[in-house]
Amino acid sequence: DFDVLVVGGGPAGAAASIYAARKGLQTGIVAERFGGQVADTVGIENFISVQHTEGPKLVANLEAHVREYDVDIMNGQRAVKLSKGDKIQLELANGAVLNSKTLVLSPGARWREMNVPGEQEYRGKGVAYCPHCDGPLFKGKRVAVIGGGNSGIEAAIDLAGLVEHVTVLEFAPELRADAVLIKKANSMANITIITDAQSTEVTGDGNRVNGINYTDRKTGDSHHVELAGIFVQIGLVPNTEWLRGAIELSPRGEIIIDDRGQTSMPGVFAAGDATTTPFKQIIIAMGAGATASLGAFDYLIRH
Ligand code: FAD
Repeated sequence: DFDVLVVGGGPAGAAASIYAARKGLQTGIVAERFGGQVADTVGIENFISVQHTEGPKLVANLEAHVREYDVDIMNGQRAVKLSKGDKIQLELANGAVLNSKTLVLSPGARWREMNVPGEQEYRGKGVAYCPHCDGPLFKGKRVAVIGGGNSGIEAAIDLAGLVEHVTVLEFAPELRADAVLIKKANSMANITIITDAQSTEVTGDGNRVNGINYTDRKTGDSHHVELAGIFVQIGLVPNTEWLRGAIELSPRGEIIIDDRGQTSMPGVFAAGDATTTPFKQIIIAMGAGATASLGAFDYLIRH
């Protein structure tokens, strides 16, 4: 039995497990894939105090740090069910059931993809999902933002200050972002907004992205835009489908937490991209993991 069982081996889960183990608590981590989204990241330049690192290197550092402590790492294991009796019970896909006094949920999220030819091939080679992370790589270049919701228009405004030009492609006839964001985007000379645009293909020279093709849904005509980067902003999907019904989720499926990381189920805490936290970044996920773990410790000393 565990005192603190962590679900997820990304930055949030790694931080949570280290904080728990340093309190002398029986700690375990269940992770489908240790490292999480960081394992899919190329350059990282906003992990404060480390000027530049690469995803796989940061994952190796995370794992080495966790292994400094007596943490039971169950890698390659997927949690499928959460329930509460005397203790909190976590069921794994392999049928095993783990018992713990507290839980820290940090299953992260995944970017919704366009699912068009070229997207996978040029991922990290011009196809990007995080403007805070990769925006500066496109300084002075032309880029597109796919998606005209809040995240898409925020990304366009953010990028317009760095890059030469931003083309926003929105599938629907109208943008779905807040009016104040749309007004701001419309006021910027280097943003072009195209609605009724269905992205059909990411084009490239074999090494890097060189453009995007889209179909005008009103006329059926195909168009090509030359550019160096494409930011896909059509949603971040939390990995919480398996928690529905067990704990309270927001309409977007994010785990609802308070400022100690406590969820709607007593003793169950959560952190990182899977939660209602407004900004999704490595450094933020780590801080949240530490918070949730200290929240669990505080809960344990009172129960
Ligand atoms: P994740 O990293 O998503 O980790 C989730 C963990 O949970 C994984 O181990 C996963 O396998 C596991 N898991 C999920 N479901 C289950 C389950 N049911 N059972 C067991 N385990 C489960 N942020 C930055 O700050 N800087 C950057 O430069 C940067 N670049 C990025 C580039 C890309 C391509 C992407 C995709 C993201 C980038 N981010 C960047 C965002 C950053 O990676 C995330 O904010 C951060 O990884 C979130 O951490 P997390 O621990 O909450 O979740």
